[in-house]
Amino acid sequence: MGADLSYVHPTANSPWGTYLSQVDRVVPYLGDLARWAETLKRPKRALIVDVPIEMDNGTIAHFEGFRVQHNMSRGPGKGGVRFHPDVTLEEVMALSAWMTVKTAAVNLPYGGAKGGIRVDPKKLSQKELEKITRRYTSEIGIIIGPHTDIPAPDVNTNAQIMAWMMDTYSMNIGGTATGVVTGKPLHLGGSLGRVKATGRGVFVTGREAARRLGLDLRGARIAVQGFGNVGSVAAELFVEAGAKIVAVQDHTGTIVNENGLDLKALIPLSRADGLVSFKGGDVIANEAFWDVACDILIPAALEGQITAERAKKTTAKLVLEGANGPTVPVADDILAERGVLVVPDVICNAGGVTVSYFEWVQDFSSFFWDEDEINVRLDRIMMNALNNIWDTADKHKITLRTATFAVACERILMARQERGLYP
Ligand code: GLU
Repeated sequence: MGADLSYVHPTANSPWGTYLSQVDRVVPYLGDLARWAETLKRPKRALIVDVPIEMDNGTIAHFEGFRVQHNMSRGPGKGGVRFHPDVTLEEVMALSAWMTVKTAAVNLPYGGAKGGIRVDPKKLSQKELEKITRRYTSEIGIIIGPHTDIPAPDVNTNAQIMAWMMDTYSMNIGGTATGVVTGKPLHLGGSLGRVKATGRGVFVTGREAARRLGLDLRGARIAVQGFGNVGSVAAELFVEAGAKIVAVQDHTGTIVNENGLDLKALIPLSRADGLVSFKGGDVIANEAFWDVACDILIPAALEGQITAERAKKTTAKLVLEGANGPTVPVADDILAERGVLVVPDVICNAGGVTVSYFEWVQDFSSFFWDEDEINVRLDRIMMNALNNIWDTADKHKITLRTATFAVACERILMARQERGLYP
């Protein structure tokens, strides 16, 4: 196989191409700081690692792993690690850059980073999963650390994987460094509220956006793409607020029920056998998901899902980006022209990294907060950030995405300027 150079010439709709176009849109609002804008368009550091493991059948398999530190002007790198067969350097670069913008948008003292392994974890045994996690952690151990770069869960990674990462890093340095990763199990320095934090943040920002739009959540119809840790938690909270979930799609298929799907039955079943085994809804073709009549659309799966064609046909008035990078730039324009409000990923799904920050702070102080305290603080941080972004959007008459980038990039580039160039 030839070298992967997709990151050098990204296509317009690829993750890195999408990110670059989002940066281009914000430059006119950066004033004198625009002279530093090029800094946003290149990662500070990108590491590609070989991850060899001995498989259960005795063969040696090699996997490709990445850790990209996009920017550290405001603090250590922060961002998840994803295990997925489609992971590329280009994708991880974009995800790391969105972390830079996200942490700045909610004003956490972090930069942005991301990691990934190109692997289908569903094809690995538990033992193989542990080996790949430990070897990857050891390989990226030269650039991560509690004060340099702090990984966390992302697509297909969880608290157990974070425990192995924490242990591997700790064994290598000869200590116990709980602060090297977040999203850990509770008794290993994890935080209450972390598992549900991303979905809760989607709900908090969505509730406020709906209020401002005059959209009553009681009876509101919601379509959710992706039913993992983000989509299912957000869906539950919206149902508690009176909304109904009329369509859900995951990698196994799509189900609909215009009277609302019964989440209490659906969630455990979807974990065990996949969505389509659920009898309380009708299975439809995957593409038909985008035609389902709804008021709110929550993309909570992977990048590039809302294309121009899908943006033209959605009936949603509000899009809540639980996923990172779900909307391609041309679709963003179509949604704006059609008057569909988009709460962008870099604020909408920032609840996860916000509670990661709480976890990291608790680890350093060795003093742990109760769940109410976590949720109250999370609400406050998300609401303050969103209100500030909304004011910026109103002031310049720009979309919430460009406003979020404006607020965030100003913070990042101000820090960059104040630190100055070395040497
Ligand atoms: N993977 C999550 C995200 O995309 C959380 C990252 C973190 O907690 O550091 O925001």
